[in-house]
Amino acid sequence: MAEIVPFNKPHMTGKELYTIAQAHFNSVLAGDGPYTRLCHKRLEEMCHSQKVLLTHSCTAALEMQSLLLAIGEGDEVIMPSYTFVSTANAVVLRGGVPVFVDIRADTLNIDETLVAQAIGKKTRAIAPVHYAGVGCEMDTLLAIAKQHNLMVIEDAAQGFMATYKERPLGSIGHLGALSFHETKNVICGEGGALLVNDAQFSLKAEIIREKGTDRSRFFRGEVDKYTWQDIGSSYLPGELVAAFLWAQLEEACEITANRLASWERYHTLLADLEAQELLRRPIVPAECRQNGHMYYILLHPRFDRQRVLSGLKENGIHAVFHYVPLHTAPAGRKYCRVHGSLSVTEDSASRLIRLPLWYGIPEAMQIRTVEVLGSLLRNAWGIL
Ligand SMILES: *Cc1c(COP(=O)(O)O)cnc(C)c1O
Repeated sequence: MAEIVPFNKPHMTGKELYTIAQAHFNSVLAGDGPYTRLCHKRLEEMCHSQKVLLTHSCTAALEMQSLLLAIGEGDEVIMPSYTFVSTANAVVLRGGVPVFVDIRADTLNIDETLVAQAIGKKTRAIAPVHYAGVGCEMDTLLAIAKQHNLMVIEDAAQGFMATYKERPLGSIGHLGALSFHETKNVICGEGGALLVNDAQFSLKAEIIREKGTDRSRFFRGEVDKYTWQDIGSSYLPGELVAAFLWAQLEEACEITANRLASWERYHTLLADLEAQELLRRPIVPAECRQNGHMYYILLHPRFDRQRVLSGLKENGIHAVFHYVPLHTAPAGRKYCRVHGSLSVTEDSASRLIRLPLWYGIPEAMQIRTVEVLGSLLRNAWGIL
């Protein structure tokens, strides 16, 4: 039996143990110590964002976005149904209603041409999700938002180090959110960041993150004591997590380059199968620079995806499908609203397979993955 090809393998640079030891010596273990400050500064530079705050997850950063916008009972946020649950949960937790519109068939990102017609009296924001680290059509979304006085809150969980028209994902809307979960490119186990790109939210973001207090201003010496200012929670990670992340940030360019090389290799290897109309490869618009986060394929509709996934698994290759569209899930039906047809969402989600992709995946594993996939599809063609 050939070697197993795992779907994901978290990449550790090896320097994390050193930075964690440093944090240990520093004797600062709570949040916002020296490593957190280093991470903030580096992320502000890398993401061209005026203020970045580490959070304990992207989910936490998305919840902070809802709190910052003061999303309340019945307020609506327009987003794709084809996303991770946290995009919608953050709104629902505040009593708001996610309004789903369909996605584009090429990038699987929110279809910007459907957003304006979904806007109503209760609409407060548009929440683009940059799927697979490929940017949404942000200029169009920003123009719609401006015209209707809405906020744009980016879920850039998969988008660290990727750009749209040279602008880093997460830094383009009023607020952005990144993830450093171990399944992402740059990781710290569980972790994320809020990108504050609009100065009106800076102070409030610090307060929400620090249990509703102005402790951050107190630490900077701007006030002589800190008190309860507003509603908030504890969204900051401890220093050990920040120390781990710092080691990763120092290698972020190398990590991204490595993943991009593996992504390009799949893209080349899969060209023939696309030419034979067995599948479709990802499409990246010219104005977007992606980050090698994910390689997915869309099977031709004639195939039974479950059989393809099982076939891969029987050959030791762990591939997965992605996102059960939220509007078809129990909580989605209960808390959310659909605007118009979601046929592209339903169709794409039913045909998508993510291939194994991780830092350092050997070329031989990628070749074998494509070979096995190709033979499964060619054989199935005869059967189905
Ligand atoms: C991973 C992911 C999240 C959640 O990130 P966590 O850091 O695990 O909370 C949210 N949205 C999208 C699109 C994601 O891919």
